[in-house]
Amino acid sequence: DLTDINTPVAVAIALPPNTGLSRASGLPDDTFANDGQITKRPVRALTLSALAPRPGELLWDIGAGSGSISVEWCLAGGTAVAFEQHAARVANIAQNIESFGIDHRMRVQHGTAANLIPDAPTPDAVFVGGGGTAALFAHLFGLLPKGVRLVANGVTLETEALLTTLHAKHGGDLMRIEIAQATPLGAMRGWNPTRAIVQWSMQI
Ligand code: SAH
Repeated sequence: DLTDINTPVAVAIALPPNTGLSRASGLPDDTFANDGQITKRPVRALTLSALAPRPGELLWDIGAGSGSISVEWCLAGGTAVAFEQHAARVANIAQNIESFGIDHRMRVQHGTAANLIPDAPTPDAVFVGGGGTAALFAHLFGLLPKGVRLVANGVTLETEALLTTLHAKHGGDLMRIEIAQATPLGAMRGWNPTRAIVQWSMQI
């Protein structure tokens, strides 16, 4: 019955359940080579939602860590430049580019963001996951054209204070993300809270 949207297509019948990658952002953390410095799955899903990738758009991922944000941006049809200062993490990013088969969409640049940014092509969106100092944001505001979407996540008090000040000055949305997972507590279970993340998102 062609009117039934639930009718599976032939190829779906041939595949076992849970095959392949989910089409939604927020893939499991262990999908990515990482050293623990990775935006965790629920926060990554919210971050990609704020970044709002459209096919063909370019992302700058500043302080890219494992590159997980860039990878999910590219899986949504975009292209990305990942900036990372830590050599071992650059290696993880390179491995993730390779294992996701996205070397035509994504590249990594090793070094501090402020030094690398002047040579990068103009993006449609910028994510600041590390290195988000007052100087970096001032630099970005001087450089980026109107319309660019900017999303920054902070976990320290210092970054929270900075993002709060920037929100007062430039507007946009400021969101605090507090998540807890149920984990064993003695013979029972309890909520294990993760550190609160503050996310500022705005359009320049
Ligand atoms: N979003 C990442 C996690 C980022 S952790 C992920 O999902 O994997 C923050 C990262 O920012 C760290 O790897 C740190 O080395 C990097 N970083 C901090 N300051 C930086 C700077 N000025 N330039 C480039 N990278 C920087």
